[in-house]
Amino acid sequence: LVVPNWPEFTSNIREIFEACREEKGGNVATYIPQLARQDPNRWGLSLCTIDGQRYSLGDSKIPFCVQSVSKAFNYAIVASDSGADYVHSYVGHEPSGRLFNEICLDGNGKPHNPMINAGAIIVTSLLKKGWPMADRYDFALNEYKKLAGGGYVGFNNATFLSERETADRNYALSYYMKENKCFPSDIQSLREELDFYFQLCSLETTCESAAVMAATLANGGVCPLTNERCIESRPCRDVLSLMYACGMYDYSGQFAFHVGLPAKSGVSGAMILVIPNLMGICLWAPPLDKMGNTTKGVLFCQKLIDTFNFHNYDSL
Ligand code: GLN
Repeated sequence: LVVPNWPEFTSNIREIFEACREEKGGNVATYIPQLARQDPNRWGLSLCTIDGQRYSLGDSKIPFCVQSVSKAFNYAIVASDSGADYVHSYVGHEPSGRLFNEICLDGNGKPHNPMINAGAIIVTSLLKKGWPMADRYDFALNEYKKLAGGGYVGFNNATFLSERETADRNYALSYYMKENKCFPSDIQSLREELDFYFQLCSLETTCESAAVMAATLANGGVCPLTNERCIESRPCRDVLSLMYACGMYDYSGQFAFHVGLPAKSGVSGAMILVIPNLMGICLWAPPLDKMGNTTKGVLFCQKLIDTFNFHNYDSL
């Protein structure tokens, strides 16, 4: 097994987890009531190794919306289905150095990368482009369930309706991109593409399920629970590279420096952390720091690196 001394490892994880409970900083997102109502004291962790060893703590079975964590999986699904070259004919690979929802394009007139809203909206528009909307949604949901090895993946309709109701920025961003010919020429309707983007943000999961999804990425795209290939190996490498460079909003550079692992966070306070060839971790605590990342989650990752040599450049 990839972690031989499981009792010792998990007791270290529990200590770090409990230490992070003391972190009281940050604020729960308030731009929609469904997020504003999240209990700020929720704190959950789940991890799953590439051998399928699993461990969970705290609120690991409570559902939350994936929000921007979906950007990583949507990219991996589309790149796996249509090829990374095709995807990157529409979107770059560079950190934007700007806010996640900023109205800006790179020097080639493309969104900077698939981990910010502009790039994620374009990537979503490529997901089974040309299929009926209902089939596209079903396809995506089914891919999420495969990644989670059959674990819980649901849909929060109230979140979807609120997201759509407060979407001025995403509409403005999309019309700006339409004006600049960022979308494929044959997309059906901008409104439907945005609905699809909000629907994928509104998918619901738990720490337990999302840890398996992260473990699938850690395992090169093969789900450790089912041994099913979900993501081709090259797109799996690609999504991890993008998460490493751009996954934590404007904290991505600092996170890469201090933690040295690919991760993706979302405004619900969820984040996934991937330790390649070892395990996937999901952390969830709603209060966010100024950058928009879960305060407890980021602290956990820093403490994890203080305890274990998981940093990408630790083993030199
Ligand atoms: N639904 C949010 C948006 O598109 C996602 C935000 C996030 O998690 N950063 O603005």
